[in-house]
Amino acid sequence: MRNRLKLGALALILLIISGTMSACDKKVSDVMGDKASSIVSENISSVKDDVSSIVSSDGEMQSSSFSSSTLISSNAIKVTGISLSMTQVSLIVGEKKMPIVAMTPKNAMNKDEVWTSSDSKIASVDKVGNILGISKGSCVVTVTSVSNPGVSAKVSVTVKASAVDASTNADWRLKLVNKQNAIDDSYYVPIGTIRGIKVDSRIIDDTEKLLQAAKKDGVSIGLMSGYRSISYQKDLLDRNVTERMNQGMSYKNALADALISVAPPGKSEHNLGLAIDFSSSTSADLNESFQNTPQGKWLKKHAREYGFILRYPKNKQSITQYTYEPWHFRYVGVESAKKIEASGLCFEEWLERK
Ligand SMILES: [Zn+2]
Repeated sequence: MRNRLKLGALALILLIISGTMSACDKKVSDVMGDKASSIVSENISSVKDDVSSIVSSDGEMQSSSFSSSTLISSNAIKVTGISLSMTQVSLIVGEKKMPIVAMTPKNAMNKDEVWTSSDSKIASVDKVGNILGISKGSCVVTVTSVSNPGVSAKVSVTVKASAVDASTNADWRLKLVNKQNAIDDSYYVPIGTIRGIKVDSRIIDDTEKLLQAAKKDGVSIGLMSGYRSISYQKDLLDRNVTERMNQGMSYKNALADALISVAPPGKSEHNLGLAIDFSSSTSADLNESFQNTPQGKWLKKHAREYGFILRYPKNKQSITQYTYEPWHFRYVGVESAKKIEASGLCFEEWLERK
């Protein structure tokens, strides 16, 4: 008992001493720079080691209030330069490139880096420096040293729009997704936001033009739903199945019934980011009466001028396998939209005869 008291008192004294020295360390380093501070730091380190051994033998005071990492960082060799394998990057939307980073000096202690984009709507960049083209335009991507934030390097990024998808090498605007043709998680969608809903960022310009043109004609069109992730689609289907099972249906029947109105994951055009459910200001409900609203009428006549087709027409249900949805429009590009609507064919038929 006496011993423990003695040790406790000694620990307390040492804590006070080293605490004072720590404050002193800061002052000395401010005035004299790193060299002086490292000498003081070494002394503190040795005191600190003694303190922690005594404290732990006491068993009641478990931790010392001193962090050794702050002491190490004052001794650290800092990054003084960053160079990149490329200073200019040209991408098409959906394409990814990663410059290789070299930091000097080689023996720098902390070579962690932070990547930022001046405009993440044009190109985004992840933690390790993958630069991804999101939409047409140019911006600057910067990599900065964590240990020395004054040191950085820049890449000029130019993103070009292209009808050819960077990953599939096909026209992304004509990608067919339906109950027979699914996409999986690996299908890349460059997601952007318009009026609070997510869509493929490449259709934002035309969608905005559509909304403006409708407004000019005195029709205010709302956006209900755009891009949905495959996992969201799975949750949506699960919820619908559960609801039906709670009403007494068997799993098999509940699933079959839910699939009439909810697409399976990866088989919804909303997973592509190219479909939009529009709404009228009077009724947010998506039902057949939408066709009689000013919004429904305007879209049926003009959506094609902005690259959208009515995807599930009334007389094509046997081919599309969807009931008539006067609110659901699919982006295919202006040229194709006009051709499809003029042909009187649905998307499946048109693609086959193209
Ligand atoms: Zn829809």
